[in-house]
Amino acid sequence: MSIRFRIALPLSILTVGLFLSVSPAWANGNYSHVWAATDALNYLEEGELRDLLRRPDLLLMIQNGAMYPDSGYAVNDAYGEITHWEPFQTVYLEWIRDTFQPPWTDEAAQHIAFLMGMAAHGMSDQLYDGMFLERAEFLDGYGDVSYMGGIDGVTDTCFAAAMGHKDPPEQWVPAEVLAPLYQVSDGHTLDPATIELGQSLVVVAVMFANDRSQDEKNMAELRASYPWSCGNQDNPQVPGSPVTHGPAIANYWQVLWQRLHGSTSFDQPLLGTYFSTMEPYDQVQDASSPESWVAFALPRGLNPSTVNPDTVKVTDPGMVEHPVQVKVYYGSNSHLVNIMPQVDWADDMEYSVSITPPITSWNEIPLETTHTFRFATSARPPIQEDLAEEDVLEDAATDTDDTGSARPSSQGGCSLVAGLDTAALCCHFHPWLLLALTILLLLSRLALGRLRIE
Ligand SMILES: [Zn+2]
Repeated sequence: MSIRFRIALPLSILTVGLFLSVSPAWANGNYSHVWAATDALNYLEEGELRDLLRRPDLLLMIQNGAMYPDSGYAVNDAYGEITHWEPFQTVYLEWIRDTFQPPWTDEAAQHIAFLMGMAAHGMSDQLYDGMFLERAEFLDGYGDVSYMGGIDGVTDTCFAAAMGHKDPPEQWVPAEVLAPLYQVSDGHTLDPATIELGQSLVVVAVMFANDRSQDEKNMAELRASYPWSCGNQDNPQVPGSPVTHGPAIANYWQVLWQRLHGSTSFDQPLLGTYFSTMEPYDQVQDASSPESWVAFALPRGLNPSTVNPDTVKVTDPGMVEHPVQVKVYYGSNSHLVNIMPQVDWADDMEYSVSITPPITSWNEIPLETTHTFRFATSARPPIQEDLAEEDVLEDAATDTDDTGSARPSSQGGCSLVAGLDTAALCCHFHPWLLLALTILLLLSRLALGRLRIE
């Protein structure tokens, strides 16, 4: 280990410790955000958007965008929470659309890539908090988490341990462009220097996850204390785990791409559908467990008052409605809807979910199409070569073009507070710590140069 590393490591941990110690639980870490946004590139359908976003020179912007929403928490500024949501992301999208036109210049492409990273962050937070963390709290039964950063710090470290050390990207943030957009979206005055500082701080969270994941004693303690949460970060069969986010993010990127080209519609396929084990079979029947929930994500942020048992129904083959509670997870502006059975799902039963107008987005754009998908409490039928396509639920789930080209999958960062109808700050940063953080960050960066174990 080099001298530089021995100096840099404690400084970086102290820095991020201060950062994370003032953040409440309920959030995805930024190692996970960078990973999920990068993974989503694997799920883009062939076409112009994939060709654009897979350009090696734009990965920097995607990954910086994927961390950016949490940067506001690091400097205790409301821009962090604002950035998580579709209203602000729409203002940025419209700025890009008004400023550039196809064919996109390099400058336009950089903004598009940053926007897509930002959108990936918001989507991941919803998927992760709305599904994975709901299960984690139920199955691990944890209360207050003393680990730095709370349960999100725990799981981000566990995910880094599962996936391996990944260096954070160099800093890139279009602060001069972004700052005035907060005035447009929320009447929030913001100095570009605040954005620059926040982005320089948030990267330390990735360093923290990398560092702590390499400490075997720390990892043994995390695995013992949070066996389900820590052990399922890389499980593709757990809804909301970081490795399941890619398809929904890719589908959302396609929606944003359409909007960049002038589309104002609300008729795209569902971004994803989610079941107990990610497949529409063997659904957990026990209504007292969040593992029994079914979920879906719509292509626009929602007006939650329009998403209710009148517009979202679950029926059995006899068209008898099953009693459910329908919840837009984060309320206004969010995409993820959990369907919670009020009594156990029946044995060996197939259900159909219908999502019908009138449902509107946060800005009152009406849903134009009915979506349906199916799931069953029975096991997946054995594979038969002569099985008719309509007998397979996974295929049937795309009857109305739902889930787009990418298979449902899902994950999240510093997130929002469950159950609120309006966006809520998930991280609180005490102003007096700002100076200390800044000094520590500068010392850390000076000592770091490039963090490297020799
Ligand atoms: Zn976040």
